[in-house]
Amino acid sequence: MVKTRIIKLENPSAPTSADREALREAGEIIQKGGLVAFPTETVYGLGGDALNPASSKAIYAAKGRPSDNPLIVHIADLQDAGRVADMSRPEAMLLAKRFWPGPMTLVLPALDTVPRETTGGLDTVAVRMPSDPTAAELIRRAGGFVAAPSANLSGRPSPTDAEHVIQDLEGRVDAIIDGGDNPIGLESTIVDLTVEDPMILRPGYITPEMLSEALGKKVELDPAILSMAADAKPKAPGMKYRHYAPKGSLTIVKGNPKTVVAKINELLADAAKAGKKTGVIATKELALGYKADVIYCIGSAGDEAEVGHNLYRILRKMDDEGVEVICSEAFADSGFGKAVMNRLRKAAGGEMIEVS
Ligand code: AMP
Ligand code: MG
Repeated sequence: MVKTRIIKLENPSAPTSADREALREAGEIIQKGGLVAFPTETVYGLGGDALNPASSKAIYAAKGRPSDNPLIVHIADLQDAGRVADMSRPEAMLLAKRFWPGPMTLVLPALDTVPRETTGGLDTVAVRMPSDPTAAELIRRAGGFVAAPSANLSGRPSPTDAEHVIQDLEGRVDAIIDGGDNPIGLESTIVDLTVEDPMILRPGYITPEMLSEALGKKVELDPAILSMAADAKPKAPGMKYRHYAPKGSLTIVKGNPKTVVAKINELLADAAKAGKKTGVIATKELALGYKADVIYCIGSAGDEAEVGHNLYRILRKMDDEGVEVICSEAFADSGFGKAVMNRLRKAAGGEMIEVS
């Protein structure tokens, strides 16, 4: 057990001088080999010095993460990308200039400056420049290169609030920076630039349409992440693990709204009869139609950003309430909705029922 310092920022969107002093101290902790959890525009990250192999090992240990699952290297200045990755391919600069700082990660050939402990043994490295001002300041103060996976215990939903990080990592890391709620609430889009046709390894807020438009050619999703087959091998090693999952069993029900409500009520009535605590993840439009112990409204069916923003918070609330059998509606599967449904399907371990 280590004593975890909780640093509450006064103004995360425009750090005050007290905040900047706190971020300087947090940067120093990372430079000395320590671990600091911090907010970004996507989810909270667990940061360590990306160029120090011992720090990367400490990150895996604190999260209980398998060490073949590589870490994303976070930078604060565009020119730093070329110090860890081969940026010579024209698409790399094009995408970096268009979407950084922001919720996009590029997978590129790794330079020797990056320890293989950070890349999970791969010769490629994932790089991202977050737009969150707290994250940028911390990265600069930490020496410019911060390895940061999501700041959850491996297997749990990613944290979208400092409270979630405290639940998972207090006593396991040196400091947690409390910058409030993360605006996006789902992890970055990962784009593989080590193959001839750039491919999305993990969908996120930067959509396939936005990437295709920027590159002037169609960018596809890794087919393995759309497949629910048990033997599908996604190229981002992290996407193969059961992930983002609540402790209760989760089933997605997809189809026309009336039938979905009826099917979910039927499934949960059976679970209740068996003595289980039941829960529903519902859109605002249908929430009033359910019978369950707890019903969480995730947002309006047409509002992908709102649904994405609330997903992990609700999965964690289901855990807090001890819900054993959870049903969720399926949500729109286009644009950012692709990322939302990807995480929801993984959380459900493939359990999806289609009704007509
Ligand atoms: P997280 O840090 O929790 O957001 O997870 C990072 C994700 O990036 C995981 O799914 C990793 O497998 C993926 N990733 C990191 N580095 C690479 C890489 N070099 N090649 C492919 N995927 C990567
Ligand atoms: Mg993660």
